[in-house]
Amino acid sequence: MSDTPELRVLNPATEETVATIPAASAADVDTAVVRAARAQERWAALAPGDRARLLRRFATAVDDHLEELARLEVREAGHTLGNARWEAGNVRDLLDYAAGGVERLTGRQIPVAGGLDVTLHEPYGVVGVIAPWNFPMPVAAWGTAPALAAGNAVLLKPAETTPLTALRLAELALAAGLPEHLFQVLPGHGTTTGRALTDHPGVAKIVFTGSVRTGREVAERCARLLKPVTLELGGKSPNIVFADADLTAALDPFSFLDNAGQDCCARTRVLVQETVYEQARELLAEALSTVVVGDPADERTQMGPLISAAQRDRVRSYVPEDAEALRGSAPDGPGFWFPPTVLTGERPDSRAAQEEIFGPVAVLLPFTGEQDAIRLADSSPYGLSGSVWTRDLGRALRVSGALRAGNLSVNSHSSVRYWTPFGGYKQSGIGRELGPDALTAFTQTKNVFLSTEA
Ligand code: NAD
Repeated sequence: MSDTPELRVLNPATEETVATIPAASAADVDTAVVRAARAQERWAALAPGDRARLLRRFATAVDDHLEELARLEVREAGHTLGNARWEAGNVRDLLDYAAGGVERLTGRQIPVAGGLDVTLHEPYGVVGVIAPWNFPMPVAAWGTAPALAAGNAVLLKPAETTPLTALRLAELALAAGLPEHLFQVLPGHGTTTGRALTDHPGVAKIVFTGSVRTGREVAERCARLLKPVTLELGGKSPNIVFADADLTAALDPFSFLDNAGQDCCARTRVLVQETVYEQARELLAEALSTVVVGDPADERTQMGPLISAAQRDRVRSYVPEDAEALRGSAPDGPGFWFPPTVLTGERPDSRAAQEEIFGPVAVLLPFTGEQDAIRLADSSPYGLSGSVWTRDLGRALRVSGALRAGNLSVNSHSSVRYWTPFGGYKQSGIGRELGPDALTAFTQTKNVFLSTEA
């Protein structure tokens, strides 16, 4: 089936059309690259303080339109209002943080004989950012803000289902005074617009966030041009709960239900020490029964719909009617609803226990002791994040030290802070975003030797 010339954006809570917009063709990508390259030259030539000031203005523009952006996210992505406000705030904060890094992006001088040796950090030029639908605004900003701060131009391709907040961000950037064409949004299909970006010789680096399957293709295409690529991919994160933990906090169902489970860091493998397994089951059953699922624009709602009918059908395929499970409730259609679910009869190697479901579904599995917990937690091909719950500090350090994952939290479910590094081990990705090194990741290092002997 060929890609449609337009994208139809649906409200996942009502199935109503929110907007129909043109999809960018390969020719549109060509034009965008030429314009972005020109804008980038001017941008990189600005004094660092001027670049920082313009990025801070962009951050202020996002702050001034925070509620509008949040409500747009609710309509196109079905996120709860509280989550969507956090997401727009994350974009603002990240722009501010990146602006703060502009003047601190310094090279160094290394002692040599017969001259002066300096290393410089230079921008790549035009960077392509390819974003998924599950956190359209923050993930777009994770690539865009540091790339701009480091002196690059950015071409952002949002996911097919969620292009609207990205388009609005580009308008705000322009209104804030960023040069025209420096930050362009190219809504479109992955197989047309996405491939045109990965295959374009004028795009010097790609930052991709999405599924492992697409990530592999993106990496292969970039490899043909020897183009650097950062991959932020899927997850199947363990939540390891020892018997001495605060069980109520450890078994917070929003550790896997937040964003209706469409969260790469969702703690979807709930691993509980066998001595408290029954207690954990009861706590989860009780917690699921009280989750408020419904209209994401209602302030009281705790969980909204899934992004699309296809995603709902995919999630359903992991939960047959007769599955042994704890279940909450969800509205009937219209809208792409699925109830909060914990599967209790799975084997550790079953499909539901191994694959990223990307919906409000977790599996509950028992373990015997520390070594068994580590073995089970590490038995996944993914390695993005995870939690360890215990009051024994030595054990917390041993377990978090043994796990092969990029983002771990002890006695917490939090994974993402824009000022600390984020990324995955194993199939969860290559490279890191966020944190103090985020700007450097969008530069190439050049070494210049100046002879004093000529
Ligand atoms: P996806 O891989 O289907 O699509 C991601 C993006 O790639 C979209 O913009 C899509 O249009 C584009 N794309 C598709 N085919 C392409 C191609 N051949 N060439 C170039 N681009 C192409 O992923 P999705 O379903 O939108 O997102 C969900 C996935 O993203 C999950 O696996 C989730 O775990 C992952 N994710 C990871 C992180 C992280 O930071 N590690 C964060 C959020 C989401």
